[in-house]
Amino acid sequence: LFEAVELAPRDPILGLNEQYNADERTGKVNLGVGVYYDDQGRVPLLKCVHQAEVDRVQAAGAHSYLPIEGLASLNKAARELLLGKDSEANTSGRAFTVQALGGTGALKIGADYLKQLLPNAKVAISAPSWENHRALFERAGFDVVEYAYYDPQSHGLNLDGMLASLKALPDSSIVVLHACCHNPTGVDPTPAQWQQIADTIKEKNHISFLDIAYQGFGDGLVEDAAAVRMFVQMGLTCLISTSFSKSFSLYGERIGALTVVTSSADEAKRVLSQVKRVIRTNYSNPPTFGGAVVAEVLNSEKLFALWDAELAQMRSRIKEMRDQLVSKLQAAGVAQNFDFVLTQKGMFSYSGLTASQVDRLREEHGIYAVSSGRICVAALNSQNIDGVVDAIASVLKK
Ligand code: PMP
Repeated sequence: LFEAVELAPRDPILGLNEQYNADERTGKVNLGVGVYYDDQGRVPLLKCVHQAEVDRVQAAGAHSYLPIEGLASLNKAARELLLGKDSEANTSGRAFTVQALGGTGALKIGADYLKQLLPNAKVAISAPSWENHRALFERAGFDVVEYAYYDPQSHGLNLDGMLASLKALPDSSIVVLHACCHNPTGVDPTPAQWQQIADTIKEKNHISFLDIAYQGFGDGLVEDAAAVRMFVQMGLTCLISTSFSKSFSLYGERIGALTVVTSSADEAKRVLSQVKRVIRTNYSNPPTFGGAVVAEVLNSEKLFALWDAELAQMRSRIKEMRDQLVSKLQAAGVAQNFDFVLTQKGMFSYSGLTASQVDRLREEHGIYAVSSGRICVAALNSQNIDGVVDAIASVLKK
């Protein structure tokens, strides 16, 4: 049976982690990760999460099954966090949310369902995008193409190219968008640019699949949901995958949600029944613990306020690292201007480093980054930043 099976290629980012772990040099730094670390270089346990965990253990609840769609209190709170409590889509019942296994699980449920509904549609992802987007939609059976997004010259958004790509797609294509904190580039459209993107999507009758994996890491919980809310207010039917992995530092609990915004409460009821079939035949129902923790934080006024404050701390630490990276590189005498790093949003930065510079950083200095030049700014801290700056400066000068 297995004789002719070929070895699958290593996941580029997880492969980098393996290499990093095997590196015996002291002073090595892994900027290739997709995880928020605190200033001590640890994955934080948020205080709000810890409190909710303690509460749950003390409640000594049994471990029964959740419904197929997950915990109702989580789904409602996740939808309100995304769309706003008073949003018409929320109060009218034309939007629904199901719990998912992280943001990846939400994308997968959505992709599998869309394949049933639109078997011949093209899926368009940004160039570049989170590396799992292409694989995930291809696995679901779609033909995946790219729309222009990043402009390496300006280190910013290629809006004209993006709009032209969206116009060139067949009508009713599926367009995957990063709602905030674009991974890997850190480049987000401005509100005015989002409006142009949404108008084009509406004109072409495209279906938007908004991926929001970093709500709260850009400018704030409400601010980072602005693009999603714009699309919904414009009456666009869309799917939205939420990840709580980063925002709650709950990576291994696999907590996320899929929200589907339809045209009417009746439509929502029918679509939900179909999405539940996708879940039932995939993993039956989601796990309880992480969902219960997130639900408690979102539904408790006190814990929500604590979460919001802890998110603000993470956000400002990332901004501080961006500021220091740019000013220290300048102080180290590098000729290039790195000011673009200051306007990028979220954990990641397309640093502009070339693949060969990334290789030299790793080989000569033990600094690991993705070959595209993506670095995780949230992996920088007060202890490692000087070493990283010196290494980048030395690679840039030679
Ligand atoms: N979408 C994007 C853009 C991401 O960056 C990530 C996580 N790296 C995900 C989805 C998946 O999130 P999760 O780990 O919750 O599955």
